[in-house]
Amino acid sequence: MAVAKTARVMGTERLGSDTLLLDLCAAEPLGFVGGQYLILDSRIILPSGKAVKRAYSLLTGDAEQRRFQLAVKRIPDGLGSAFVHGLAAGTDISFSGPWGKFVPREGVSGSTLILATDTGITAALGFLRATRFAPLLPQALLIWLRASAEYFLPEEFVRKQVPAACGEVRIEAIPAVGHRERVPHARAILREVLSRGNCSQAFMAGDGAVNQVLLDDVAAAGVAVSKDNVESFFNMPKKSA
Ligand SMILES: Cc1cc2nc3c(=O)[nH]c(=O)nc-3n(C[C@H](O)[C@H](O)[C@H](O)COP(=O)(O)OP(=O)(O)OC[C@H]3O[C@@H](n4cnc5c(N)ncnc54)[C@H](O)[C@@H]3O)c2cc1C
Repeated sequence: MAVAKTARVMGTERLGSDTLLLDLCAAEPLGFVGGQYLILDSRIILPSGKAVKRAYSLLTGDAEQRRFQLAVKRIPDGLGSAFVHGLAAGTDISFSGPWGKFVPREGVSGSTLILATDTGITAALGFLRATRFAPLLPQALLIWLRASAEYFLPEEFVRKQVPAACGEVRIEAIPAVGHRERVPHARAILREVLSRGNCSQAFMAGDGAVNQVLLDDVAAAGVAVSKDNVESFFNMPKKSA
């Protein structure tokens, strides 16, 4: 059973039409590693009896364990994201975590590819800002693919969160979620990066439909990866896949 913890909303900021940035302060240090997520409890109970609880990745670095930020995209008719968008400063929220294996490995050297799609940029930012990832930053390439410049977080905001030591940042547009050209487009970008031939490890966060195919491509290119290198936020791969 997950232990319920609490955090206070210290402030909120709207970043674009459907994105809320939440500033939170946890009652106790979180004990997280950059790349992990929390599960917020909206305290909404569906008629089926199921509680509405949703995962959100910490986008701030793990050097600070009590003050942290989450960025949440409002999903049409979504109860969890609507709950978050309704939060105001001074409210206490309940959560469990940290959860997840999408964290930098210890004792690894060489160059790292972190490829985020859509809202997956939050996990990618948390990962890049992990204390243990600092030595690998100069050889890191962050790629963020999303449908347009208006999607989720402004490019300028994202670039500001990326540590200055990060080797390269690419932010590009790809076809929207569900578009038939989306996966081929993402694969073409990955192919070009892998053709450089110096990728030691790769991590993917965001659209599960993209992650699943790219994970296979990365493995086929001889880069050591496992399912723990992937954090899917939606379009979850089937458990048996
Ligand atoms: C590990 C993890 C970390 C996550 N971190 C974040 C985060 O940092 N910021 C954030 O905004 N969301 C994040 N999410 C997604 C979040 O947990 C919810 O799925 C989202 O807020 C929608 O919840 P809802 O109750 O509003 O809508 P629901 O009714 O639960 O969702 C409706 C549908 O929309 C899908 N969906 C969720 N996100 C998207 C998207 N971006 N594009 C298209 N479809 C989507 C859901 O999978 C579902 O099928 C994360 C998910 C996971 C699993």
